[in-house]
Amino acid sequence: MAFYEYQCEACRATFTVSQLISEHEKTRKEPKCPECGDTHTHQLLSGFFAKTDSKT
Ligand SMILES: [Zn+2]
Repeated sequence: MAFYEYQCEACRATFTVSQLISEHEKTRKEPKCPECGDTHTHQLLSGFFAKTDSKT
């Protein structure tokens, strides 16, 4: 699972979405803004961080 940070182009709200990395690469779909419901959102590249819970 990875987390992607997005910003809404309508209301400028930023929000984080958790997606499978494979799912994110496959769909390239922008999520809906949780604040105003607009679908014109773009990913903030600096907001990427991955989370792993495997202890190796
Ligand atoms: Zn919005």
